[in-house]
Amino acid sequence: MFDKILIANRGEIALRVIRAAREMGIKTVAVHSTADSDAMHVRMADESVCIGPPPSPQSYLSVPAIISACEITGAQAIHPGYGFLSENAEFVQIVEDHGITFIGPTAEHIRVMGDKITAKDTMKELGVPCVPGSDGGVPDLASAKKIGEEFGYPVIIKATAGGGGRGMKVAMNADEMESAFMTARAEGKSNFGNDEVYIEKYLTTPRHIEIQVFGDGKGKAVHLGERDCSLQRRHQKVFEEAPGPTITPEERAKIGKVCADAVAKINYIGAGTIEFLYENGEFYFIEMNTRLQVEHPVTEGIFGVDLVREQILVAAGEQMSFGQDDLRINGHSIEVRINAEKLPNFSPCPGKITAFHAPGGLGVRMDSALYDGYSIPPYYDSLIGKLIVQGRDRDEALARLNRALGELIVDGIDTTVPLFHALLQEADIHSGDYNIHWLEHWLAENMEQ
Ligand code: ADP
Repeated sequence: MFDKILIANRGEIALRVIRAAREMGIKTVAVHSTADSDAMHVRMADESVCIGPPPSPQSYLSVPAIISACEITGAQAIHPGYGFLSENAEFVQIVEDHGITFIGPTAEHIRVMGDKITAKDTMKELGVPCVPGSDGGVPDLASAKKIGEEFGYPVIIKATAGGGGRGMKVAMNADEMESAFMTARAEGKSNFGNDEVYIEKYLTTPRHIEIQVFGDGKGKAVHLGERDCSLQRRHQKVFEEAPGPTITPEERAKIGKVCADAVAKINYIGAGTIEFLYENGEFYFIEMNTRLQVEHPVTEGIFGVDLVREQILVAAGEQMSFGQDDLRINGHSIEVRINAEKLPNFSPCPGKITAFHAPGGLGVRMDSALYDGYSIPPYYDSLIGKLIVQGRDRDEALARLNRALGELIVDGIDTTVPLFHALLQEADIHSGDYNIHWLEHWLAENMEQ
C-alpha cells in the first residue's frame, strides 16, 4: 500500500480523498494555487505544495507543476478527483512514465471513452444498448440530412470530443439541420479542437440513469446499481438520487450485469460510470465517465461502501473489498449540489463566507470545503458543497433533506439552496415524476431566466 498520495484537485473532492486516505493510514499531499493558500484542503492535508497562480491552466492543470510536487514530497500516487486532469489520457501517461501510480483507469481506457464515437462503438461491441444513430462520424451536411430522414426527427448532433453539455445541438426538423450541424461542428472545433460530429435520435422524454461500475483491472468487475440524475439545468445535474425511483430490481440486475460484464471484458480498473437515457423501459448508452463522479456519495449511501478507498486499493494492486454478492441496497439517498450562484439567473457569486453551519443528525452528510470566514475565489467551479441525505425510503430521505436544508447556514454569498427549498414544495419531486426536461420547464415557469 502507498505511504503517501498527492491529490491533484481542490475543494470538497480534495477533502473527500484526504478523508479516505487518512482512514487507510496514508499520508496526503495537497496542491494549491496562490488563490487557495487558505483553502480547507490545504489545511487538512499532511503537506501542501503551491503549484502556481490562480488560473487553472497554470496551476491545477499544470502537469509539470504537479509531477514536481510529487517528486518533492515523495508521493507515490496521484488521485485526480473529478474535473481538471481526471480524464486526461496524456496526463496519465506522463504520470506513469515518471513511475508514479495514477489512481484511476489506464490512459487507454480514458482515451477510448473520451471520444464519444469510439466509446459508443466499443460499448455496442460489448453488448451495451445504445441510442440509434449514425454509424460513426458524419462528414457533411448532405449525409446529416440523409440520416435525419432515415431515423426521423428530432435528432441531436454531437461533437465526438464534446463534454459538459457543449458541442450538442438538436434539430427538430430538416429545416433546422443545417444550422444545428454547423453549430455542433463549430463548437466541437472551438471548445475541443475537433470538429467531428455524429448524430443520434433525440429522445423527447427520457430520464438520465447512470450505472456505477467498479473493476479490479484483472477481469473482475461489479455494478453498484443506478443513480437517477434527471433533474438538470443546461445538461448539468443539480439533484441526484439512488436508487432510481422508477427502476425495478429486475431492470437494475439486468442492465447492471450488462455494464459490469462490459467493463470486466476490457479489464477496466477503478470507478466508472456508464450513462444512459432511459425511456419506455429501455436503456440507451450515451457516454462513459472514467472517474469518480460528483454524485458518487448517493451510491456510497445505499451500499455503505467507500468508493475512494476502493480506488486506492485497486490502484495499489490489492483486491477490492467486496464482490457483487456483498452489495445490497439499503434505503434511499439524495444529493443536492450547492453552488455559489445567485438565483434566478444562476450567475456565479464568489465572496466571503461570514457564517457557516453544516447540518447534522441521522442520515446527513455534508461534503464541502467551506468554513467561517473563507473567501470563495472567483477562478473555479461554483460547486461549494454537496448535501447528501439517507433515509429508509425515498419519502424519509426527502423529509430529511428538507430538515437538513433548514439547518444549513451559508451567509455572505448567494447559493442555490433556495432552489431546493422550492423544489421540495413540488408534487412531481415527491412522486418522482420527471424527465430530463422537467427542471428547465419548471425554471422557465417559476423563475425569471
Ligand atoms: P456531455 O458529455 O456534454 O455531458 P452527454 O452525451 O453525456 O454529454 O449528454 C448530456 C445530456 O444531454 C444528457 O444527460 C441528456 O440530458 C442530453 N442528451 C444527450 N443525448 C441525448 C439524446 N440522444 N436525446 C435526448 N437528450 C440527450
